[in-house]
Amino acid sequence: MKLCKSVLSVVVCVTLVSSCVSKLDRPPERDGYVVQAYHFCEKCESLQGGIYEKGPFKKFSSDQRKECVHEWQEISRDRFMQLAVDLHAVDWSKEPGHFWNGGIQVEQED
Ligand SMILES: [Zn+2]
Repeated sequence: MKLCKSVLSVVVCVTLVSSCVSKLDRPPERDGYVVQAYHFCEKCESLQGGIYEKGPFKKFSSDQRKECVHEWQEISRDRFMQLAVDLHAVDWSKEPGHFWNGGIQVEQED
């Protein structure tokens, strides 16, 4: 019983410490079913979005990112692309693939 208690307190400690540390530069929380999403943190001007896990996926951020407890807000794809241009000087016409250059279609056509 005593062993159980100490194991439990170690687990609690580790959880507390890791949750504290991981508040910095955390990715946005997502609904596991929503794979396509675009997020913006106004505090550090970080952007990330696209098709999560599968790709295409893009991240843009400044040096402030690592010290930021992000306040992610979900934004539209259009806003994401516009902010990337405004804040990070992205030239979308140089991005490979039609996903970023117009069509949203990502399935490969045979
Ligand atoms: Zn941030």
